[in-house]
Amino acid sequence: MTAFDDLLAANADYARDFLDSGLPGKAARGLAVVTCMDSRIDPLGLLGLKPGDAKILRNAGARVTDDVLRTLVLAVYLLGVERVLVMPHTDCGMAKVSDSDVYELTQSHGVDTRSLEFHTVPDQNAALLHDLTRIRTSPFLPKDMPVGGAIYDVRSGKLLPVDV
Ligand SMILES: [Zn+2]
Repeated sequence: MTAFDDLLAANADYARDFLDSGLPGKAARGLAVVTCMDSRIDPLGLLGLKPGDAKILRNAGARVTDDVLRTLVLAVYLLGVERVLVMPHTDCGMAKVSDSDVYELTQSHGVDTRSLEFHTVPDQNAALLHDLTRIRTSPFLPKDMPVGGAIYDVRSGKLLPVDV
């Protein structure tokens, strides 16, 4: 018994009927989506995409961190990405706490996380505009690449354009 038995069993079923699509690793729709790790978000489903269409980058809060920029550079120059959608969501846990809240919480578990930046989101629109600017002004990414921002509503399933 391991903590992953359910997943290994599910994969055995999956692989039994799996047909190799022969898809390359490039994004067929030329798209990268930066979104949150929130388990309610189905990025492919909500955008009408299928496996092979897009690069999906996920982290807490859909923030454009240095690692997201690193990944976008690779996605653009190696993997066919020509446009980027940054997609945070309503009811995001990252908009409900501050970094100091997280430090306190982890401290109560005896863990000091003050060397980490959590990029919590006091103002979701402001954070999104900040993150779009980070991509648009990156010296490592094409100046004319379309970069858009929209907030996914986890209650209605609708995407609310903010800056597209
Ligand atoms: Zn979230």
